[in-house]
Amino acid sequence: MNVTELARKLKVNTKTLLEVLPEYGFDIGKKAIKIDDRTAEQVMRRWRHIKRDLDEKRRKEEEENKKKEREMRRESGQTVELADILTVRLFAERLNLPITQVITELMKNGILANQNQDIDYDTAAIIAEELGFAVQKEETKVDVTKELEKADTLDEVMNRGENKERRAPVVVVMGHVDHGKTTLLDSIRKENIAAQETGGITQHIGAYQTIWKDPKTKEERAITFIDTPGHEAFTVMRSRGATVADIAILVVSADDGVKPQTEEVIQIVKAAKLPLVVAINKIDKDGADPQRAKTELSQHGVIAEEWGGDVPMVEISAKQHLNIDKLLDTLLLVTDMNADEIMADPSVSAAGTVVESHLDKSIGPVATLLIQSGTLHKGDPLVVRNEIYGRVRAMKDYKGDELNEAGPSVPVQIIGFKVAPEVGDVLDLSKAQSAEKIDVKQKRTQQTGAQRYQATKKESEEEEEESVKTLNLVIKADVLGSLEAIIGSLEKMRFEGVSVRIIGKGLGNINEDDINKAEAGRASVVGFHVKPTARAEESMRDKNIPFKRYDVIYDLINWVKAELEQLLEWEKIITELGTITVLAIFRKDKRAMTIGGRVETGKIKTGSLVRVKRAGELVDYGKLVSLQIGQQVMKEVPSGTECGMRYEGRAKIEKGDILEAYMEESKARTLQAQSK
Ligand code: GDP
Repeated sequence: MNVTELARKLKVNTKTLLEVLPEYGFDIGKKAIKIDDRTAEQVMRRWRHIKRDLDEKRRKEEEENKKKEREMRRESGQTVELADILTVRLFAERLNLPITQVITELMKNGILANQNQDIDYDTAAIIAEELGFAVQKEETKVDVTKELEKADTLDEVMNRGENKERRAPVVVVMGHVDHGKTTLLDSIRKENIAAQETGGITQHIGAYQTIWKDPKTKEERAITFIDTPGHEAFTVMRSRGATVADIAILVVSADDGVKPQTEEVIQIVKAAKLPLVVAINKIDKDGADPQRAKTELSQHGVIAEEWGGDVPMVEISAKQHLNIDKLLDTLLLVTDMNADEIMADPSVSAAGTVVESHLDKSIGPVATLLIQSGTLHKGDPLVVRNEIYGRVRAMKDYKGDELNEAGPSVPVQIIGFKVAPEVGDVLDLSKAQSAEKIDVKQKRTQQTGAQRYQATKKESEEEEEESVKTLNLVIKADVLGSLEAIIGSLEKMRFEGVSVRIIGKGLGNINEDDINKAEAGRASVVGFHVKPTARAEESMRDKNIPFKRYDVIYDLINWVKAELEQLLEWEKIITELGTITVLAIFRKDKRAMTIGGRVETGKIKTGSLVRVKRAGELVDYGKLVSLQIGQQVMKEVPSGTECGMRYEGRAKIEKGDILEAYMEESKARTLQAQSK
C-alpha cells in the first residue's frame, strides 16, 4: 500500500506519519513510498494509541508556547486597558489575540460567551492576567457630550427673556452609595429657618428649598435642592446635561474615600462644567481620614482650595449635624461667584424640568417640576414633548402649601397631569399653541409596567390578553456604567412572544422602594454587585418577590434568557395518523362507545386522539383507548383493515362518521429572535 494512502485513511499527513512510525518500532524509512500490507494493518490497529500520544504531545507543545508567550508578555510588561464592561470582540482586540482563543480562555473559566456579548472588568482582568498581561482599569468615560447637545433646548428655554433676575441656585447632591447623601439632604432640610418657623414639617416631593441667611449681607436667601433618589438625580443631571442644577455637592465619606460612583460624578461634573463643592462627610466616625479623602480627590483632579485648587471642601457630619451651616455658607458664596449664570426671566412663558413623577393610587399622576424660566400659574396647560399632558389643577410647594403661581427655581408638585411625565422631561409652555392633546389611552399603554399596573385594573387585564408575555424587572447596580450596559443588553433582546420590561432601575443597594415597585409591577428584583438592605430582604420574603444577585453581566443575561424561555408556552406538536370510516355502533355508554370501522388511510394507534367529522363538519373530539381486530387486541391497525374500537368521549358518533386520528405532543419552546 502507498504510504500516502495509509496516511489518508488515518487522517494524518504523510510526513507526520513517517516521522512517528519508527518511534513505535515500525522499521520504515523516513522517505518510504510504499508500506507492506501487514505492517499497514498493524499500524492501523495501533493508530488509536499513537494518535492519543500525538495529540497529547501537541497539546503540551501548545501549552508550552502559550507559557512562553505569557512569560514574554510578563517580562516586556505588556499592559491592557480594560473598561468596566466590554464585548468579547473588543477584549480580543485589546489583547491582540484571535477571538476564538479568547472565547476558549473564557470557556476555561466557565464563561460561555460569543463575540458580541459583554463581559465585565473582573472577568476580563482575570483572563488577561492569566495570559500574562498587566491590567489597567480604563477610566469610565461617560458620554456626556452627546447629552450636552440635548441640553441646548433647555439652555435656550432658560435663557429666554430680557428681564433676567437673580434666582435661587439649584443644587444637586451626588456621591457614592452610602456616603451620606440622604442624611445630608435631611440635615439641610432641618437647618431651614423657614421650615423651623412653620413647624419644620417638609414633604418629600423631589426637591425642596432652604432659606439661609447670607453671612455677609444678612439677607435671607433661598437655595433649591434636588432631592430625588440616587439614580433619578443622575437622570436629571445627565439627560439634560446637568443644566438643571447650578451647583453640585459631591459627598465623599471620610472613612471610605473615592469610590466608583465618586469618579462618575467627577466626570459628569467636569464635562458639564458645573461648579462643585465637596462635602467630606462622616468626620465624626472613628477611622475618618479627611486628608486621605482629599488626597484621593486630588488624584482625580479635584483639588481643594487650601491646596491651591479651585474646589471648596467642607468637612461635615451629616448625621451629627456638624458644619452644615458652613456648607450652606459655601453654597451661597459659590452662587455669587456664578451669579451671571444663575438668573432667569420670570415674565416669559413657563418652562421647567420634571424631577419626580409617580402615580398616586387615588389622585392619579403627580409630578414635581422645577421651574427654570417664567412663571407657572394654576390653570396653565402642561406642555411636554409638544403635547398637552393636562392642566395645572393644583400646585403645592415642599411645605405642602398650595400655590397659585411658581417662578424660577421653585420646585412645585403638580396635580393635573393626565399621564405621568418622565423624570427629565421638559415642560415648555411656549409651545402651547402648536402642542397637540395627547391620546391618553395610547400614552398610558406606552408607560412603564408599574405605572400601568397601577393605572387602572381594566388596562392591566387588557394587557394580560396581549400575546406578548413580559418578564418584569427591577434592576439595581453599583455604578451607572454597569447599569446602562445591562439595560442596553436587555433592550437589545427581542424574542417572539416574550419580552423584558424594566419597570425600575437605579444605583445602590436594593431598598424597600424597589421592593414596592417590584410588587406593584409583578417584577423580579435583580442586583448587580449590590445586595438588599435588611429591611428590603425581609419585605422581599414577606411579599414573595423573586430576587437574583449577579456579579457577571453575562450570567445575568443568561438568567433573563432562561426566565423568558420559561414564559414561553409549550408548543403543541400534532401528528396526523390516519382516517377511519365508522361502520357500526356496538355499544353506547355515557362517556364511551364501542364501535367498528375501517382504517382508510395511514395507521392508527391505541391512545390516538380523534376528531369526529360528519359531512365534513367537526362534531366532537375523543380518544381511541383500545383497538381490536376480531378478538385480538392490537396496538396499531394499518390502512385497509377493519377493526373494533373503544372510543372515549361524548357518545355522539354515528354510522358513516369519519374519525381523524392524531397524536399530540408538547414540546418546550426555545427563544426565537424576532424576525423584524
Ligand atoms: P446615601 O446612600 O449616600 O444616601 O447614604 P445615607 O444618607 O443613606 O447614609 C448611609 C449610612 O451612613 C447611614 O447609615 C447613615 O446613618 C450613615 N451616615 C450618613 N452620614 C453620616 C455621618 O456624618 N456620620 C456617621 N457616623 N454616619 C453617617
